[in-house]
Amino acid sequence: MPDTVTSSNEAPLYAADIGGSFMRLAACAPDGSLTPLAKQPTPARDWPQFADALAAMLAAHAHLDTVRQRAPLALSIAGLIDPLDGVAFSANLPCITGRALASELAARLDRAVYAANDADCLALAEAVSGAGAGHRVVFSAVLGTGVGGGLVADGRLIRGAGGVTGEWGHGPIVNTQCTIDGETLAVPRFACGCGQTGCVDTIGGARGIERLHAHLHGATKSSHAILEAWQQGDAAATRTLDVWRELVADPLAAVVNVTGASVVTVGGGLASAGALIEKLDLAVRARVLIRREQPLVVPGRYRDEGGLTGAAWLARQS
Ligand SMILES: [Zn+2]
Repeated sequence: MPDTVTSSNEAPLYAADIGGSFMRLAACAPDGSLTPLAKQPTPARDWPQFADALAAMLAAHAHLDTVRQRAPLALSIAGLIDPLDGVAFSANLPCITGRALASELAARLDRAVYAANDADCLALAEAVSGAGAGHRVVFSAVLGTGVGGGLVADGRLIRGAGGVTGEWGHGPIVNTQCTIDGETLAVPRFACGCGQTGCVDTIGGARGIERLHAHLHGATKSSHAILEAWQQGDAAATRTLDVWRELVADPLAAVVNVTGASVVTVGGGLASAGALIEKLDLAVRARVLIRREQPLVVPGRYRDEGGLTGAAWLARQS
C-alpha cells in the first residue's frame, strides 16, 4: 500500500460541502457517486474550531489505512475563492475570509485540499455528469434564494478574475419596464445587498419573485405560494411570473450570447418548478442570436449533491 496519495481518477477522495449553517462530508467514488458520511453545524466564526471540526469529521470516517488517512479533500464553499492566491471571501463563513483556505487546511489536515465556490462546483457537476454533459460550453444559472452562476468550457471550470465568473446576479442590468399582453408595466431598480441597484439578484430568485409580487399587487406571499397559485391559474400570480420571465430572460439571453453556452442548466430551489423553467426557456430562446429548436434552459440534474459532486470533479482534474 503506498503511503502517499495523488488525485488520480482511482484514488480515494473526500468532498465537503461547507455552508454557513451546516457542513457535510462524503466519500466520492471514481464514477462520481457519493456516500454521505457526516453532517454537523459549521463553526462559521472560529477558524481553529472550523479546522478542528473538519479534521474530526475526516478522522471519524477514514479507515485505518494510510491511503485514506491522507486522501485529498475537495471543498465546495459558500464563498468566493480568488484563483490567483486562493484567498477566500465569505459573508456566511467569516472565519475563512482573508485566508488562503486550501493551503492552510492542507497543512492542518496533512493532505491535498482543493476548494471552489459552491455555484462553480455545481456548474462543473452539471457539465461533467449532469444536464450539461456532452456540451462544450455550459452555463449553470442558480435560481435559489438569490441568483448566482458558474461557467464551464471543455469540461473545465472558468474561474476568472477574482473568482466571480458566472456571477450574472449582480450589476445594474434589469430592465425597468416590460410589456405583458399589451400592458406596459414599470418595475423599479430595486436596491441590492451588493450595494448596486437593478441587480438580477433582486428579482430573479425566490426572494425576488416575492418582491415583484409585492410591487405589482401590494401583497406579501411566499414564493412557494405564488408558484402554487400560478399553477392553479391565479391571475395575480400569473402576472408576477410573466414579469419575472421577461426581466430574467433579457440578461440570461445576454449571458448565452456572451459565453456561447449551448445549454443553461438551472440549479437552486426554482429548478424544481419545471413549468417555470419551461417558460423561461421559451423567453430566452426568443432573445438569443442563434435560434434553437431544442430546449436551451433546462433544470439541472443536481439539487443537494451538486456542490459535493463538482468539488470532487475539480479535485480529480487537478
Ligand atoms: Zn447586486
